[in-house]
Amino acid sequence: MLKCRQVSELGSEIVDRRLGVGTRLAVLAHLGLCPHCRRYLRQLRLTAETLKRLPLEDEPEAPAILAAIRRRQGETKD
Ligand SMILES: [Zn+2]
Repeated sequence: MLKCRQVSELGSEIVDRRLGVGTRLAVLAHLGLCPHCRRYLRQLRLTAETLKRLPLEDEPEAPAILAAIRRRQGETKD
């Protein structure tokens, strides 16, 4: 059985699906018993997907997108 620390160390590999079958099964078995690691991996996956959607720093549109986000944040404030 994997320990929580091992699952957290494997975190990015789990999210990127870089694990072999044996390790994946061990992780799944652990997640079935451990709500802490389930929550940890869910947050990690959300973060990874958010990062993938963010523009790269050298994208020409990046400053315009950031400006639009800041404008929208300004609008939602009272
Ligand atoms: Zn755990």
